[in-house]
Amino acid sequence: MSAVAIDPAVLAAARTDMAALLRVSAVHGYNEGIDNHYSLAVDGRDDLFLLNRYGPHWSEMRPSDILLVDLDGNVVDGAGEGQITALQIHRQIHRARPDARCVMHTHMPYASTVASTKTGFITRLTQNSMSFHGAVATLSYGGQVQGDDEGERLAAAVAGGANAVFLQNHGVIIVGASPAEAWLRTYFLERACEVQVLAQSTGDELVLAPEEVAEHTARQWAEACPEEGPLLFDAMKRLLDRDQPGWRD
Ligand SMILES: [Zn+2]
Repeated sequence: MSAVAIDPAVLAAARTDMAALLRVSAVHGYNEGIDNHYSLAVDGRDDLFLLNRYGPHWSEMRPSDILLVDLDGNVVDGAGEGQITALQIHRQIHRARPDARCVMHTHMPYASTVASTKTGFITRLTQNSMSFHGAVATLSYGGQVQGDDEGERLAAAVAGGANAVFLQNHGVIIVGASPAEAWLRTYFLERACEVQVLAQSTGDELVLAPEEVAEHTARQWAEACPEEGPLLFDAMKRLLDRDQPGWRD
């Protein structure tokens, strides 16, 4: 640890935020067994990020299960290993989008359902979906991510400014400037996809907002996000303190 010049308090707080993200995601059913992965670039460093250890269920993640990893995929602090697909995805995205400090990859069910339809995600359908208008990318499925090529394809998608990437036949990647922003986007993306699937399942014709209304709504969301994100994330951590005492290690 001495070789890594990071304020221990900053690192500990970041690990706690990661554990919170994973546990709250498990509460919502966003995890896929012990697979899927989140990462968080450490404040003040563009060459190191935190990644969940491969093995624990998300509902049992603690700060001590969060590894510090470099951009080559080496674990520089923490016990255990990251998943190979996780290392490929996250290191490439952190390289491509230094502003996207928090990167979340899930197979959450409604977003994964939408990712497996030809229509894809409709950003003019609901108020929640409009928050993503103009900031969504869709990638075709290329098999499990194990080599640099697939990681680079994902990185190129977020480098273009997308905050949500739909991986066809697979799942989603959501990025945010902070854990709070990434959680806000993840939560509202899954809610938007849930309502889209329900709306499509009615068989009725969908009502789509005009382009300019969707653009306006996306701007309103962007303005509200810095305030609502931390409020929601703090609330989620209070729920963990209430329902899962001891989660902070
Ligand atoms: Zn996946």
